[in-house]
Amino acid sequence: MANLQSATKRIYSFDGINNCIIVNDVDSSGLQSLSAGLALILQQKRHTKQTLILSDIPEAEAELGMLYKKVADLIGQHAIDRLIGIGPEIAANSALFDVSEQHFYNSSSQFIDDFSNLDFENETVLLSGARHFNFQQISAKLQLLAHAAVLEVDLAAAMENLDYFRSHVQPETKLMAMVKAFGYGSGSYEVAKALERKKVDYLAVAYADEGVELRKAGISVPIMVMNIEQNSCNAVIEHNLQPEIYSFKVLREFTEALNQSSHKGSFPIHIKIDTGMRRLGFDADDISDVIDFIADHPELKIESIFSHLTSTDIPDHDDFTRKQVNDFDRISNRICASLDYPTLRHILNSNGILRFPEAQFDMARLGIGLYGVAYNDEAQSHLKTVATLKTIISQIRTVKAGNAIGYSRKGEAKQDMQVATLAIGYADGLNRRLGNGKGNVRINGKSAPIVGNVCMDMIMVDITGIDASEGDSAVIFGDEITVQDIAKTLNTIPYEILTSISRRVKRVYYW
Ligand SMILES: *Cc1c(COP(=O)(O)O)cnc(C)c1O
Repeated sequence: MANLQSATKRIYSFDGINNCIIVNDVDSSGLQSLSAGLALILQQKRHTKQTLILSDIPEAEAELGMLYKKVADLIGQHAIDRLIGIGPEIAANSALFDVSEQHFYNSSSQFIDDFSNLDFENETVLLSGARHFNFQQISAKLQLLAHAAVLEVDLAAAMENLDYFRSHVQPETKLMAMVKAFGYGSGSYEVAKALERKKVDYLAVAYADEGVELRKAGISVPIMVMNIEQNSCNAVIEHNLQPEIYSFKVLREFTEALNQSSHKGSFPIHIKIDTGMRRLGFDADDISDVIDFIADHPELKIESIFSHLTSTDIPDHDDFTRKQVNDFDRISNRICASLDYPTLRHILNSNGILRFPEAQFDMARLGIGLYGVAYNDEAQSHLKTVATLKTIISQIRTVKAGNAIGYSRKGEAKQDMQVATLAIGYADGLNRRLGNGKGNVRINGKSAPIVGNVCMDMIMVDITGIDASEGDSAVIFGDEITVQDIAKTLNTIPYEILTSISRRVKRVYYW
């Protein structure tokens, strides 16, 4: 299933060697795929330098010269700095191309022999290869990490989820998308870029560093930073981020930093009201002083006023949720009335959007829903799976009845058992409490229970009766075993499962 999914979504990207980004159009089928791939890297613009590795084009064209003329024109329109042509036909037509650096090879293996002579560094590399050129071996050379565990992130699915939530708010209601904690584990830049293209109004991150990283990567949408401290004020100002102001201390420190900076004009801030979370935010009693402070400091502009609901997924607490909404309405109105400009108000998170549409005010903040998780089965049925965690089988062995498996000899072969060792462990974010039969993985459409203790970098699973070979892929979570299933087993929430996947697990983005 997961393999099938990867096969149908052809273009994906991942981090490559020497700070390259590799965009792989696995099974490029001609001019149209090439054009789509070129458009994607142009729109991404992660590096100033872009290299295209292109095979012979499998297009039925009577005259090859005409075909490669079209290819050359297409490339000419896309600011490609280096062209690597692979195949006898493209090589024979090399004179048609006018790229500042170009190399031609008759086959993929000739190119690979010459690989060490071609520097790949700080550039985006688009691989566009017809199937029989086997560009997978080139992709493997350019790939950064050899670790087999990957988190596949389906960006198209995330954008469908975005549309689903959009359909629950008024057309004029704005959306702030939460990309904190490395986009709930799914990667911040790629998710942010896709959201920017879908014209979300704001992004939000937890810490200034996350916002700075997005700005440096070229994200230009307004970004709210939720946890600011004195030492991050300057970064917020310098990188055009927008602070969440939740206390008088932060209000004073930020204003001071702003006044010492070279910033001209008023600076957008977001005022956080506490209506029951008891985490961050101003109390109702603070509001008069907030209003006075803002009146005295025209260098601050209240871009929005917001609060956070504690229990939008728990119907038993709906009365409390409605009280939070009413309190927020009243408190925020007092601030609005003191301003001579309009400001935005917002309180809903993902589940709030689905369950309290009457409380959408001017904006809603979408988090977990974007990443494919909802509060109940009905809502879940409308969302697409975004993240799939996979790895491969490193080794298969038969363990004879009576033998123990793994650390502390916790696993037990009651009968002869086929055991597969998988390249993923607790250091990758696979919770150790899933060991000893608590958790399962999916291999070739069947469930395989984890036997024995989860190791740091590996697990052993029981594949008795499953047709599997070394090198086959194993899915930890995705469509078949969901993050909700795992969260239930571990008595936690899907948020924790998603955000625990460690950074050493390679993220691969499907477009
Ligand atoms: C994380 C967060 C959200 C998003 O919540 P979800 O439940 O993931 O939709 C919204 N607002 C604030 C203040 C948050 O910290």
